[in-house]
Amino acid sequence: MKEFNGTSFYEYLDESKLMGSRCESCNALYVPPRPLCPSCHGDAMVWEEMSGEGQLMAFTTVHIAPTAMIEAGYGRDNPYCVGIVELAEGPAISAQIVGMDPAKPKSIEIGARLQATYVERGDRSFLGFEPAA
Ligand SMILES: [Zn+2]
Repeated sequence: MKEFNGTSFYEYLDESKLMGSRCESCNALYVPPRPLCPSCHGDAMVWEEMSGEGQLMAFTTVHIAPTAMIEAGYGRDNPYCVGIVELAEGPAISAQIVGMDPAKPKSIEIGARLQATYVERGDRSFLGFEPAA
């Protein structure tokens, strides 16, 4: 198991693992993980691997992309979707939504079942979600 620090979550993504932290005192679950529990202020946190299954709660299409996404080829002429996904385990996380057509936002349904995927950009993996098979 990796140390609890700011980079470990991303190191796990490089291994295609979506990890959260579970508080052993009050059982609260956080994704991305937190080293301290905001609920009970305890620090007895343990890693927990998520199933990667979730449901789309909200999304937006991004036309004005941040630098990293422009370098990845996105922008005004090639928009992408970012969504809030409620994981099967409970927590919600924001991530890129792939495999849906950002040019046709009406084709994207709130409540759609999604599955985590790992999007490679540069030499890193980033969390994304795609429609569940
Ligand atoms: Zn707690």
